[in-house]
Parts: sequence; C-alpha cells; structure tokens
Amino acid sequence: MTMFDFISDTPSNSTAVRHKRNHLKKKIVHRMNSSGPQTIPLLSRELKISMPSVDRLIKELIADAFVEDMGEGPSEGGRKPHQYKIKSRACYSLCLDISISDVRMALIDFNNEIHHPIKTHIKKLEDNQAYAEWLVSIIELFILESAVPFSKISGISVALPGLIDPDKKISRSYFTELEPNLWDFLHNKLNKDVLIDNDARLMTRGEHVFGLAAGKNDVLCINVGAGLGMGMILNGQLYRGNTGSAAEFGHTKGTNSLIPCYCGQEGCLETIVSGPAMEKSAMEILSTEDVSVIQKTTAAGNKNFYEGILEFAQQGHASCKKIIQDTGHELGLGISTLIILLNPEMIIIGGCFAGTGDLIINPIKQAMHSIPVQKFAEGTEIVTSQLGHQAVLLGAHVSLIQHLFKDVM
Ligand SMILES: [Zn+2]
Repeated sequence: MTMFDFISDTPSNSTAVRHKRNHLKKKIVHRMNSSGPQTIPLLSRELKISMPSVDRLIKELIADAFVEDMGEGPSEGGRKPHQYKIKSRACYSLCLDISISDVRMALIDFNNEIHHPIKTHIKKLEDNQAYAEWLVSIIELFILESAVPFSKISGISVALPGLIDPDKKISRSYFTELEPNLWDFLHNKLNKDVLIDNDARLMTRGEHVFGLAAGKNDVLCINVGAGLGMGMILNGQLYRGNTGSAAEFGHTKGTNSLIPCYCGQEGCLETIVSGPAMEKSAMEILSTEDVSVIQKTTAAGNKNFYEGILEFAQQGHASCKKIIQDTGHELGLGISTLIILLNPEMIIIGGCFAGTGDLIINPIKQAMHSIPVQKFAEGTEIVTSQLGHQAVLLGAHVSLIQHLFKDVM
C-alpha cells in the first residue's frame, strides 16, 4: 500500500472499520504536514482521539514507512514524549509552473520539502495540442530521471498564466481548444489527479503558507516574469472574485502606453512591466555587444534574456539598472492605486524580482512619492519575495494537499 492509497480511501472502496482507521491516520498525517512533528499526547489532545488509539495508529504508520520516530522531544511536564513526523520522500506532489516563456517542475514531499533539483525548460508557451503533448513527455522524463516511483506521486498541480476557473476546469487564456480540457487531457495521459490554477494565485498561496505573508491577513503578491500577475489575501483568505478572474493587475491600464496586449486591449500595465517589456527596452538602449554578452550568459545558464538583464543590473551595469528603475517606476504607479483601493499590510514582489531588494523597491517607492499616496501607504510594507520561483511551486503543492485532505480539514 502507498500513502496515497489510504489518503484516497473512500467509504465505497473500503470496509467500514478500515475506512475509519484510514480516516484517523489521514488526520494524523495532515496534522504533521501542516504543523510539523507531533507527539502522541499532542495528537490525542488536538484530534480528540484516545492516547492508546493514537499510539496504535502511529505504530501502523511507522510499519508502513509513512511516519518516522524522531526520538524524544521537549518535555511537556513529565517524561519526554517521542516526536513523530512524516517520513521523508514517502509521498510527493508533482508541481508545474508553466509561464509564457518557460516551465519549471518540482517534486515536493509531504514534509513540504523539495528533494530533487527543480527542472527548468526554456520554451515559449504554445496554445495547441502539440505543446500539451510535449508537457506530458517532459513530466514523464522528469519522473524517470528523479527515480521516484510513480506510485509515490499523489497528484499533479499546475500553475498556468491567464484567466482560470479551477472549479469548472476552464482556462480562458490558454489551451482553450484542447478537448475536453487541459485537466482531463493530463489526467488521461498520466493517470493522476490534476489541479490547475492561476500562477500568481498559487504564488500567493505559497507566500501565505511558507513565505513572508505567513500569519498576515491582507497581502498582495505581485508576480513579474513573462507576464505580470497578482494574487490577493484579503481577511486571511485567498480572494478569487466572482468567476476566478480577480486581481488581473497586469491588464489594468499602464501610464503612457499604447502597446497592444495579447488580451486584446492596448496599454495594459503588463506591456510595460514584465520580462518581455524589459527585453524590448534592452533592445532599444543597450549596445549590440552588451545584448550579445547577456544572451550568451542566459543561454549558458538556461535562463530567460530578461533574467540576464536583472543579473547585469545587480552587478552594476548602468543601462540595465536604468531598465529596472523605469520598470520599478511604472510598477510603483500601479501599486499606488492598489494601496489606495485595498490598504494592504504587505506587498510582496516576486517572480524575477524576488531577492533583488532595493534595486526594485527603491524606484517603486520613489514613484509613490511623486503622487499623494503616502498617507494611504503608511503601514504597508513593500518587500521582495524570499521564496523566489519556489513560491509558485510550493503554492501548487499546498493546493494539492488541501484537495487531498479536504475531508479532514
Ligand atoms: Zn492585457
């Protein structure tokens, strides 16, 4: 039996006694996933299961190699109880972050740890079946290379740009022609549960559980990469809107832009604040020689050209810094409106700007000084993500965990 077998056990495919036991084990595993190592007295108290029952269930989970004994933990006012955690690599989520210009993949175990190197493919997103077939092939190859048994993968959670209604399995921006839809296409090819959601929303979920937004109630997460996305935590909850298209920040109007956007409008903020927009500026202001050096560096490092511009800016290249400052200025003007509307406690700038700190934060703040937003912005912290690209993948993992454990949450 795999861990996924008892997690997916239902009353209809099990005896009543076995189902009840599996349900209790599932509660224990979920508690360990969300709160870390547990003791038998703590599990008994929190889950309202008798100590002898918890003891017996833990022994069964250890015998099946799903849980491990970490030895004695801190004293709870008597004998030091043993602590138990989910066994490393016992069960995984396969998480994909598909952007307009690349695909990242990670295998994340139920201790929320990424064990195998994140795999990146630089390839332009194509809205057709051949691209979907290619996705299946790289997923199969990734699993093969990781040497993780297929039976240990509990499901596939995918982050995709654009308008997505995950409950109705509708992607309004990409794979619109795929029959019946991307969810069922991947499920039929790979025989695993498939979840798909908007990439910025999943980034926000990742930041809320593992990143700087943890414990906060009102946070905006801005994902800059091949596009410009945003997710919102409002009153402690991920906000989706009526049809799941809330927070399409990239498709609000930018200042002084008449550039056509793929969404059909012109002058969207994404046309001036995104990786491709930075690349366009680079082609206009950098020397041919500089462009060539950056292109060689990014090709060797399996990165996007805009990531190279950022790296050069961080190393002090004046023209590349100018591109980031201009981008930050436009982003800051957009953020000013968000602050006036939503009064968030924190704004996290992620994607390619993760970890860049003052390089992007300073021009954002300077843009905000130029308009009377200061009194609204008091108390709003603007920071760059510490999780970087992992935020989307971890958010996809959280989404799958919540789906698998929804009956015990
Ligand atoms: Zn647009």
